[in-house]
Amino acid sequence: MPRFLALICCLALPLSAFAANDSYISRLLNKSVPGGVAVIDLGTSGPAPHASFQGRPVLVVNEQGNHWLAIVGLPLTLKPGIQQVQVQNGQAFNFSVGSKHYPEQRITLKNQRQVNPEPDDLKRINGELAEQEAAYRSFSPGTPSNLLLDKPVNGPLSSRFGVRRFFNGEERNPHAGLDFAVPAGTPIKTPASGKVVLIGNYFFNGNTVFVDHGQGFISMFCHLSKIDVQIGQVLNRGAVVGRVGSTGRATGPHMHWNVSLNDARVDPAIFIGAFQP
Ligand code: ZN
Repeated sequence: MPRFLALICCLALPLSAFAANDSYISRLLNKSVPGGVAVIDLGTSGPAPHASFQGRPVLVVNEQGNHWLAIVGLPLTLKPGIQQVQVQNGQAFNFSVGSKHYPEQRITLKNQRQVNPEPDDLKRINGELAEQEAAYRSFSPGTPSNLLLDKPVNGPLSSRFGVRRFFNGEERNPHAGLDFAVPAGTPIKTPASGKVVLIGNYFFNGNTVFVDHGQGFISMFCHLSKIDVQIGQVLNRGAVVGRVGSTGRATGPHMHWNVSLNDARVDPAIFIGAFQP
């Protein structure tokens, strides 16, 4: 095709579609499957739109001048098909969610109480769950310092996100994060700037730190041997939050990292370029 014709074809595309397809954020983060992320083009006009998915506010970022993208977390429980992002002005944006197969993992625990907790444990677990769910639902106005995240530790992955887990033969919740095989004591660095919104010592997660990167984009690190931060502390990208350990329900030292968007736990591997379809 003569060069001038190709140029005319490109110019004939709506600007928003062209810019979204060209966006590095779309290219790197758009993995529209359960447990993944959908990047939705909200258009180019006006101030930052307020968008929501399933009733929860979603992260909206600006790219290429006045161009708005919604970065939507898709829960593991989401059914493949057409989904919708709502915008405050009444507009709705459809997007399609594909399917993804997550493999099984079988784990043996010596402590049967960590598989079938006793009544007192359940009381504690439910309280801790509520506390952590509230942290995941917090929505602060700041824009994240970076969407492509740094690895919190340098080491090989030992368990991927989404695997269906069986403890001593009994199925429990799927793996909501990514595990890195690194020695106890390894410093864990926050993969983007943020504020410490929750710390705790939990039945399953052990010593845990939640870092809010802004607009519902939240990291959680658990099983720590030591916590080096306090609630309310503001952290620069790369600041140490604590040390790798094996507290809580863990078969040995490793770093477990959750990433959440709009209260949906999504695959952290997307943000470090290690996602597998
Ligand atoms: Zn884990």
